[in-house]
Amino acid sequence: VRVTVVGCSPACPNPGGVQSGYLVEHGETRVLLDCGPGVLGKLRETETWPAVDAIVISHLHLDHFGDVVPWSLGASTFAAGRRPELWLPRGAIGRLRDVLGALGVGAFLDPAFEIREFTEAAFSVGELDLAAIAVAHYDTPTFGLRVEADGRCLAYSADSAPCDALVAVAAGADAFLCEATLDDDGESCTPRGHCTLGEALETHEAAGSRLLVVTHRPAELAVPERPDVVVARDGLVFDV
Ligand SMILES: [Zn+2]
Ligand SMILES: [Zn+2]
Repeated sequence: VRVTVVGCSPACPNPGGVQSGYLVEHGETRVLLDCGPGVLGKLRETETWPAVDAIVISHLHLDHFGDVVPWSLGASTFAAGRRPELWLPRGAIGRLRDVLGALGVGAFLDPAFEIREFTEAAFSVGELDLAAIAVAHYDTPTFGLRVEADGRCLAYSADSAPCDALVAVAAGADAFLCEATLDDDGESCTPRGHCTLGEALETHEAAGSRLLVVTHRPAELAVPERPDVVVARDGLVFDV
């Protein structure tokens, strides 16, 4: 299972950065986890129009779904009839339609995508098996994802505060793509929504994941070197 970090910026993009988008490939199957601002343009550097089987959106924050808007628009010109699945958390479809409607582009969504909903359950796209697990992210319904094939597992935190569900997302994963948005001071709001680096490391250790890939991290915040930790950057490719 090959993973390409298309973009890994947090909600305020890092200098020159692309926001959340992770391309997961196995055999003939290609799935994009999240599609934040900048992802479509980055993918178009190597293919005229991204040939993905599905886009899976972890939650409806702009840095994770923003490029669904230009993807919908561009598909009418470039997609040549290709209509990937667009997986959204249950209940998010209405809100996504509202957003596109307010932008005056609501009519482009359904011709561009086969829209699907997931809840806390397993689903498949081609040769990849996925499972969605609800995690703690303010008051926004948000799902961490496990992507499995051939006995290998990529876990993705989406955006999440530390919680038991986040440990379940990462349990025994070969690679755990985990956000570490906060500096060491953390956050004092309730409910919480993100992890510090220390909390990401604690989750990685509690879950017994093999490799921690730190993502969604402001460029200003350092990550000390460790043999079982990699820092995501736009364009990073790793095999799970
Ligand atoms: Zn985010
Ligand atoms: Zn978020």
